[in-house]
Amino acid sequence: MIAFFDLTKQYISIRDELDAATARVMQRGMFILGPEVSAFEKEFAEFIGAQFATGVGSGTEAIHIALLALGIGAGDEVITVPNTAVATVAAIELTGARAVLCDVRADSMLMDVEKLARAITPRTRAIIPVHLFGQSADLDPILAIARAKNIFVLEDCAQAHGAMYRGKRVGAYGQIAAFSFYPTKNLGAYGDGGAIVTNDAQLAERVNLLRQYGWKERYTSAIKGMNSRLDELQAAILRVKLAHLDAWNAARRERAALYSELLKTVTLPREMPYGQHVYHLYVVRSQKRDALAAHLKARGIGTAIQYPETIHLQPAYENLGYRRGDLPVAEKLAREILSLPLYPELSLDDVRAVADAVNQFK
Ligand SMILES: *Cc1c(COP(=O)(O)O)cnc(C)c1O
Repeated sequence: MIAFFDLTKQYISIRDELDAATARVMQRGMFILGPEVSAFEKEFAEFIGAQFATGVGSGTEAIHIALLALGIGAGDEVITVPNTAVATVAAIELTGARAVLCDVRADSMLMDVEKLARAITPRTRAIIPVHLFGQSADLDPILAIARAKNIFVLEDCAQAHGAMYRGKRVGAYGQIAAFSFYPTKNLGAYGDGGAIVTNDAQLAERVNLLRQYGWKERYTSAIKGMNSRLDELQAAILRVKLAHLDAWNAARRERAALYSELLKTVTLPREMPYGQHVYHLYVVRSQKRDALAAHLKARGIGTAIQYPETIHLQPAYENLGYRRGDLPVAEKLAREILSLPLYPELSLDDVRAVADAVNQFK
């Protein structure tokens, strides 16, 4: 049996550190917006190379609050891609704005900059490039278009903690960025969590108010806000894990390189020359994807499909006004992609066993 992922192995590998961190929080008796969250925010901002990070309740809420902080709402349009987690589009709609979808490139599976200009209208206020599967979108041309049209860029970094673009980590290229700490992400909590990263002090201040009822002073709302807070236990856990993230990402890259060396019968994920992939997922492509997945399942190997249907073809998002065929590259990818097991603790022998099983499929 080779599971698609295994979070227990990681816990066991750092159990003493984690147990000490959670005990420290319990002992202190402070669970919301205390010293662990403040320390994590500082450490995470430093890791990304940005000035400010704010812990929030989830990645979805990070995107939602970031958009609100940018002043986006009803009547506005926000451009993103069709092959993302539904969270990206759900967060856009939570603000009252309309999601506009831009197709992706076949090679990187990321936002196609050639098609981006055509998606822009006078109502476009923001672009959300998604650094899908652990790889940065091609940010320079996206930032250039956005600058020329006075549009914000919000990076969706939920799958790309530590990924590089032109020598710097993603998350500090746009005006603002959103991260998720869902347990399976490259940096994962033991529950929900997220963060918003920015270099803009005013945006950081707005984010801080929005996440807690708009409070500047306790019990007095300066603006209308909500409750979306990272909690102390998760922050303490994330502080422990952040110290291991570079090593874990390196282990992911080593396993991905071995897959890419061994696999013979499927289309491999492509690492774009402008950056460094952190392989949140190792996604291959096959025209016989479903049969391949069944072949692996019969051999005790877990796989997953991220994501089996593009956003615009899901029942809840008919309102976006797209039909099958409108975003052909993303639609084709949804039929062909398959994620193989990949996590830092996966043994190299297991990588070889998975690769052998894939290569045996005819
Ligand atoms: C996981 C994810 C999110 C949402 O994060 P949650 O913490 O689950 O709310 C948003 N965008 C992308 C690309 C994701 O992978």
